Amino acid sequence: MVKDNLSALYSKLPSGVKLVAVSKFHPVERLMEAYDAGQRIFGENRPQELAAKVRQMPPDVEWHFIGHLQTNKLKMVLPYVSLVQSVDSMHLLEAIDAWGRDHSKVTDVLLELHLGAEETKQGFSEEEILMICSGNTPSENLRIRGLMGMATNTEDEDVIEADFARIESLFKRIRAERPEMCGTFTELSIGMSGDWPLAVRHGATMVRIGTDIFGPREY
Ligand SMILES: *Cc1c(COP(=O)(O)O)cnc(C)c1O
Repeated sequence: MVKDNLSALYSKLPSGVKLVAVSKFHPVERLMEAYDAGQRIFGENRPQELAAKVRQMPPDVEWHFIGHLQTNKLKMVLPYVSLVQSVDSMHLLEAIDAWGRDHSKVTDVLLELHLGAEETKQGFSEEEILMICSGNTPSENLRIRGLMGMATNTEDEDVIEADFARIESLFKRIRAERPEMCGTFTELSIGMSGDWPLAVRHGATMVRIGTDIFGPREY
């Protein structure tokens, strides 16, 4: 089942778009089905669950953290992940940098842009992201690899498309204005189960898909 879902996705995703299998709330047996089908990048959004799964899964899995990260949980997450996709505050950015200084680790991160008009205020504004990318922020121990966004939770494709267009244009603007960043500022993480084809049309380099691979989550 998981295997069939993955094959379908692999055949539809353009090459060059990385698939992050969002495995939150699913047991390790399901993750192993995906692993055995060739999947190597997994996304989790809770530190405790991530730490437990890291111990049970093979060592060549590439873990991405995709949820809200509290600074007192960094030690449960940063040693294990190759990318923190969901950096949503200056406080967190500074804490990751400081952790990296203490542990001699450079962490790859994406800056999360707040999209949509939702109650959830998670994410930076465009102005904040431009400010961070202008270079006046901690960067010794982290590499800003790109942007991440979650479109408004709606069935209205026009609204979702407008969200994706907004983050795509910010991504392109930063690459145009900061050519020295372009070597590393390469990732645009947009698109989930319902909306990934639209995200791919708006330049996604990474899609984060849970339900279409593993089925519904039981909370
Ligand atoms: C859960 C989650 C996803 C995956 O959502 P699906 O609709 O199950 O594909 C993607 N991105 C983030 C940040 C998530 O928390």
